[in-house]
Amino acid sequence: MSTGRKIALITGGSRGLGKDMALKTAAKGLDIVITYHSKKEEAEKVVAQIKESGQNAAALQLDTANVSGFDEFKNNLQQILKSEFNAEHIDFLVNNAGIGINEPLAETSEETFDLLTNIHLKGVFFLTQKLLDVINDGGGIVNISSGLARFTMPGYGIYGALKAGIESLTRYEAKEFGKRGIRANTIAPGAIETDFGGGLVRDNKQVNDHVKQSIVLERVGQASDIGGVVAFLCTEDAKWVNAQRIEVSGGQNI
Ligand code: NAP
Repeated sequence: MSTGRKIALITGGSRGLGKDMALKTAAKGLDIVITYHSKKEEAEKVVAQIKESGQNAAALQLDTANVSGFDEFKNNLQQILKSEFNAEHIDFLVNNAGIGINEPLAETSEETFDLLTNIHLKGVFFLTQKLLDVINDGGGIVNISSGLARFTMPGYGIYGALKAGIESLTRYEAKEFGKRGIRANTIAPGAIETDFGGGLVRDNKQVNDHVKQSIVLERVGQASDIGGVVAFLCTEDAKWVNAQRIEVSGGQNI
């Protein structure tokens, strides 16, 4: 029986963009399950913050690079939905978890290629496939791409190619899942000051200045610039937004 309450699962919600997505989506009145990879304490702080705000929340461990662990994750998710949320399904899946590795094409190893591919494309594909029957009809998928799928920055060739793949995959998801009323959209953030890529954009003044001059709003993006757009996609106001790529970059490299 539906109570009208909605639940969003956000991967990589322990920090950075995913944390802001979790807080902003909770502020729209949704309950939240976040995942973390290694930073359990950070994830628990996000859960506590959401609970303080009056919504329900929980955190689960997940390695999106390890497809063979997805059955166990699904079991854990279903258990926690039952015990903590009195629910069997989620409404929104936000595939956000990710890492950045800067390696020129000429030096990219097969190991780096495989790790990035597992996290940014294979993991997103199979996690979504695995959770299809856990997502309610009428729900939605939000895949996090990057401005680097449209423009280039040396060292991010594989990453950019994988994010371009996610954008294409999103349109196919919209096409194939639309009959269930499930919308699929991509959010493509520009360069944001987070821990991503070792905190390069935030901590390296030269990179930070370079990024700033590429953005027409004349500042580098913050995590708080992104979450609200994802949150919007998880509301009824976005019910007719489907198969779109929404870039959230302050107008970078236009
Ligand atoms: P971040 O601050 O480094 O946070 C990364 C998040 O992903 C953390 O929650 C981390 O968990 C989780 N994670 C990392 N590896 C994982 C794995 N193997 N399995 C599961 N979870 C994993 O990065 P961010 O800047 O928020 O980036 C989030 C997403 O936005 C990524 O998909 C990234 O590609 C995309 N993006 C970022 C930027 C940017 O400039 N920051 C721009 C465009 C797109 P733990 O905390 O437990 O380690």
